[in-house]
Amino acid sequence: MGCAKNEVDSEHMTARLVEAGYEVVDDPETADVVIVNTCTFIQAATEESIDAILEVAGYDSISSGSAHLVVAGCMPARYGDDLADELTEASCFVPCSKEDSIVTIVDDVLGIERDDYSSLDIPGYKLKRSGLSAYVKISDGCDRFCAYCTIPYIRGRYHSFPEDEITAEVRGLVEAGAREIVLIAQDTGRWGQDFAEPSTLANLMGNLAEQFPETWFRVMYIQPEGVTDGLIEVVATHDNICSYFDIPLQHSNREILRSMNRKGDGDEFLALIEKIRQRIPEATLRTTLIAGYPGESDEQFEELCEFIEDADLDYIGVFAYSREEGTRAYKLDGQIDEDEKLARTQRLRDLADDVCAPRIAGRLGQEMDVLVCGVEEDGQLFGRAMCQAPDVDGVTYVHDCQVGEIVRVVIDDVLLYEMEGSIVR
Ligand code: SF4
Repeated sequence: MGCAKNEVDSEHMTARLVEAGYEVVDDPETADVVIVNTCTFIQAATEESIDAILEVAGYDSISSGSAHLVVAGCMPARYGDDLADELTEASCFVPCSKEDSIVTIVDDVLGIERDDYSSLDIPGYKLKRSGLSAYVKISDGCDRFCAYCTIPYIRGRYHSFPEDEITAEVRGLVEAGAREIVLIAQDTGRWGQDFAEPSTLANLMGNLAEQFPETWFRVMYIQPEGVTDGLIEVVATHDNICSYFDIPLQHSNREILRSMNRKGDGDEFLALIEKIRQRIPEATLRTTLIAGYPGESDEQFEELCEFIEDADLDYIGVFAYSREEGTRAYKLDGQIDEDEKLARTQRLRDLADDVCAPRIAGRLGQEMDVLVCGVEEDGQLFGRAMCQAPDVDGVTYVHDCQVGEIVRVVIDDVLLYEMEGSIVR
């Protein structure tokens, strides 16, 4: 369930289990163990995870006791023992911090004894994942404690993964056929600062791009402070690093940002956007914004609307503020009524479409590389250009090529966030 970071955790658990001799079955109702890797970032995600757990709990195999339900990930990390009291259908709970021991845990659930667990729990095990585009997590946790966010309480303090482990994972994925590596974390721009000998995301990106010159690299979730001159330069000087900046801004009003425990303001963000565009005119910029944060006045909301028009970004994700127990924002005065939050969210989304659609339309007639990713049900081939991140930005439809190729196309049609291109011969 949930975001790409959780997806990577699921893949890691799967790889460890397969390495240990377990088999992944297509139909969960025939499994001996069903693991639900949960998300609880916001209320809606928690509800979706509970629905998934209850659906699995309803399988004959689970209710009869012939198979086991294991609940993993963010829900056990956030709710601890309270969850065990509520979800008696589950055989066990695996918080994020224990996921590396998934083999031992599943063995225990099934009563399997092994002589030696040590070889299964070492870091740097070989991943058996494949796919043209692969997410790689470069750190976990977060130290920023944004007032609305549960992640630091669920995932713990920020810790970067060592460069040699990241490189080994990338190598394994490239050897298995990956053409694009997407680096993710809660706070990618901070990578390396917690090492005894600090490093930077710019160093990591540069080293990876040079070691794997045929592979596209993309980084997501760079907080504004993480967009350093060094990072802009490394993106500008490597053809295989996507000129793509995903910078969650969340708001533009200074007071709201301070209440969120975040830095910056609209003017600083506009200056940062300008700096990126001056160095890399073709750069694609994405952000996320929160509508209806506690205390957001009509004037502050209007300021955010103006910011959207001024910033002229390529992609904008808008989320209604979700009031989460245990966060500082939960206790703030001025909580905004749900209908008003939804109305503000819709207004920002409409504004975002008004600003972003013309930018996408501006790509008409441009030549660009497209990684051909797959075939739709109707037989149409689709891929993504460097300006389109997986899962969030739409796709480019192509013809006369093969899945897995990177082809040069000229964009000859656009429809809102989708593009269509013809191969350049
Ligand atoms: S940067 Fe803020 S919003 Fe993002 S994970 Fe950390 S605390 Fe949450």
